[in-house]
Parts: sequence; structure tokens; C-alpha cells
Amino acid sequence: MTKTFSVPRGTSDILPAHAHVWEKIERQARRLLNTYGYREIRTPIFEETELFARSMGQTSDIVQKQMLHLAAQGPKDSPPSQLSGLSLRPENTAAVVRAYIHNDLSRKESLTKLFYIGPMFRGERPQKGRLRQFHQIGVEAIGPGTLSPLLDAEVIALSVHVLESLGLKGFQLKINTLGSLEDKKHFTQLLHKGLKPYVPELCEDCRERFERNVLRTLDCKQKGCREIVQGLNVGHRYLSPESQKYFHQVTEALDSLGVQYEVSVKLVRGLDYYTHAVFEISDPSLGSQDALGAGGRYDNLVSQLGGPPVDAIGFALGMERIILALAQEEQTPPSVNVYIIGMDEPSLKKAFSLLNVLRREGISSDMSYRLTSLKNQMRWANKMGVRAVILIGEDELKRQCVTLKDMEKGSQEQISITGDDYQLLKDKLTQGS
Ligand code: AMP
Repeated sequence: MTKTFSVPRGTSDILPAHAHVWEKIERQARRLLNTYGYREIRTPIFEETELFARSMGQTSDIVQKQMLHLAAQGPKDSPPSQLSGLSLRPENTAAVVRAYIHNDLSRKESLTKLFYIGPMFRGERPQKGRLRQFHQIGVEAIGPGTLSPLLDAEVIALSVHVLESLGLKGFQLKINTLGSLEDKKHFTQLLHKGLKPYVPELCEDCRERFERNVLRTLDCKQKGCREIVQGLNVGHRYLSPESQKYFHQVTEALDSLGVQYEVSVKLVRGLDYYTHAVFEISDPSLGSQDALGAGGRYDNLVSQLGGPPVDAIGFALGMERIILALAQEEQTPPSVNVYIIGMDEPSLKKAFSLLNVLRREGISSDMSYRLTSLKNQMRWANKMGVRAVILIGEDELKRQCVTLKDMEKGSQEQISITGDDYQLLKDKLTQGS
């Protein structure tokens, strides 16, 4: 038997019946992001592995466990090393910063506002809402003048605005601050000292995190670890007065924008590059994989990657999760509005030329390209959910007309067409649309 192929684990086909949802989200997001002054950037889907390791941190879960590396050996005619050292992008901040530096964007404007929409890749154990190829809508605001609580508030509010504009309501925003790099070091020390007596009680991952990057223990989902960390009551003790003031200004600005949020001192983001504001948006309706998106400030990343000393802030929203959360509210519109049925060979030819005319008029339409029973075709038209069916048979050809069935009202009428003049029919089909 011939082998058949299934979609690779952790990926999915977006079929036509669903692609319109994706298209709508992308269109809506693009429009809104443009309104806030963001312009699209498209970077390659793979980059040097080192870029991700240096930006996200060698000890981050993504770099440690989830990177999808390209084969070390390239095609036969290329040198073996050509593809080695490259990885599919697990997220896009590092790549956008790489592009910012590589293309010298800092010379062109003082604040560069970029957005992207595209696939990301992580070698995860697939489950609902957790895929190996998933899609993100993200923004990055980069430039020397971006360390401003107003911009932090704007970026956070924008992430909320994107979700709201897509029709989501039940999500929650949590924010926190990690403070400056100095504060983050202080935070690390406090946590290290506090956790030391509890190390044997931590889960295996957290014992390793304790050694490599203790802040990540705050991310742990294990009940035991969570209780220990909560018991330490670290709060915001690590923050300098300046950082406290900065965070206060961010929350004040969010209040002035009417954005609802909760301050969560436990919220840290698992990547090394974050400083100051970090935030996460979750939707309880999604179950265990409830994060819709996340973001934060990363003032040191650009210079760490060899660029100028500029500040930056951004976020990424997961499109699959957005679609899951929207699923209940979404309705599938018909793929086309009009379906034409020809009942014999000459009628089929007439149907074909009418199809062409309607499409040129911008009326979405389709037809049966071969002769099958009327019953079958009507069943098919019903299934597609079309608004109208046009029937052409011997009688219609003789009388120079078509039969137009209104599928919503259940009515039908004959409409005269003389030769190639379909005006009356076109008017009928565009009425009320
Ligand atoms: P992260 O960079 O991990 O915070 O990801 C930002 C957002 O992307 C998350 O909040 C999710 O909505 C989405 N996301 C991350 N990883 C996955 C995945 N493996 N599958 C589906 N969506 C994901």
C-alpha cells in the first residue's frame, strides 16, 4: 500500500474553512498596530543559533530544551557546515533586534516601532495550545528615547487593545517590574539566599534553576515549589527608589488609560533580557495553557548583541491561543456567496461564462464544473452555506433567463438575461450586500 503522510506532530494545516479567521485577525491586528505607529518587519524564519542563545540566555528553557536546529549537513552539493549553527526561530525579539542592528535602523529614526506576524518554532511536547509551529503577533519599540513609563504603558495597553479589538473579553493582565539590571542582580541574590535552605525540597528542574538562574524558580508550576517561593515574600524589596518610582509611573499611566491589571510580584519572564516592566496576559478559558501573550522591557539586549546602547520594549501574542479563546464566538461565513448549477452540457457552458462575469464584478461565486444530479448539487450548496444558487437548464437557455434561488428566504424567481447582459441579475445579487 502507498504510504500516506500526516501533518508533522505539533503542527497543523489551516484549511480554507478556517483560514478566514486567521486572515481577519491579521487584518485587524495590522490596522490597529498601524494606528499606533508600528510598521511591519519580516525577518527570516531561521537565524544563527548563537543569536538566540546570547539573547534569551543559555540557561533559558527555550535555549536548553526547545530549539529546533537545522541539520548540520546541508544538501549534497553544499559544504557540510553551511546549515550548521542555524536554528528555526523560537521567538522573534532577537531576530528583530538583529535586523535593527544589521540594517542600522537607529540612524534612521530615534524611535523605531516594528511589528511582525509569523510562525515560530519550538521543540515542545505537543498538547492543546502548545505546538511546535505556532504563530505570533508581536511588536518591538526600539530606540534611545524609549525608556519612558508612558511608552511602557502604551505598549501594555496596545497588547490589551489588540485582543479586545479581536473580540476577546475574558482575559487578565498581570504586570510586574524586575527593575534595572542592578536591581535584578539584587533580586537574584535575595532569592538565592532565601531559597538555599529549601533546595532539597525543590523539584528537579528548580534545583537546577537554583544553580543556573534562580529567578526561573518563580516560573515553576509545581505546587511545592510555588509554596516555598511564595513563603519567601520577596515582594519588591530588590527595587531601587528610582525603579520603584518608574514602576509607579507605569501603573499611573495604565490607570489613566483605563487598563485593568493586577500587579503580581511573582511574575518574572523566563528570558535573560528582561528588565523593568514585564507583563503577561492569560485567559482562564484556555485551561492549562492559558497564556495569550507576554512582553516586557529589554533595555540591554541591543547593546548585548553589538548594537548601540538603546532601550526597547515589546510583546508577543500567540495566535493559536487567540483563536482557541475566540472559538466559541466565531461563526464560519460561507466560502462563496453564489453557487451556479448547469443542468446539461450547453447550460454548463453558459454557467461558466456567467461565473466569470460575476467574479469580475467582485461577487464571490463558484459552480459545479461537471454534470451531477441536482439533488447532490443542492446538498453541496447548502453545506457551503451560500446565499444564492443560480440554476441554468434547457428551459432557462431557451427563455434567456436564469432561476435564482434565495437560500436564506427559501424563495426563487426567474430573472431575464438577454444574450450576455447579466445586469439585472448582478443588481439582484449585490442588493443588500
Ligand atoms: P512566550 O514568548 O513563550 O511568552 O510566548 C508568547 C505567547 O506565544 C504565549 O503567551 C503563547 O500565547 C504563545 N506561545 C508560546 N509558545 C507556544 C507554543 N508552543 N504553542 C502555541 N503557542 C505558544
